[in-house]
Amino acid sequence: MEAISLKCPNCGAVLTVPDIYIGRTSKCGRCRQVVSITPPREESPDRAKRDMRYVDWPNFLLNVALATLLIVLLGILASYLI
Ligand SMILES: [Zn+2]
Repeated sequence: MEAISLKCPNCGAVLTVPDIYIGRTSKCGRCRQVVSITPPREESPDRAKRDMRYVDWPNFLLNVALATLLIVLLGILASYLI
């Protein structure tokens, strides 16, 4: 069990709650605003991963194109051999 820190969207107070409360709501100790407990902000690695996936797309297409070309070349080669 880990404690996570989140900011109250109403008053900006930092709340520390155990991570088992992720997905639930808590009340801000300062302003009593109901705060939904979300996972800590580790969005940047996720976003980087998502960006990498975008970068991988042309690579994937290139691999598919190369594989198709190879199959076509093998087909041509086979037709020559027959
Ligand atoms: Zn607050």
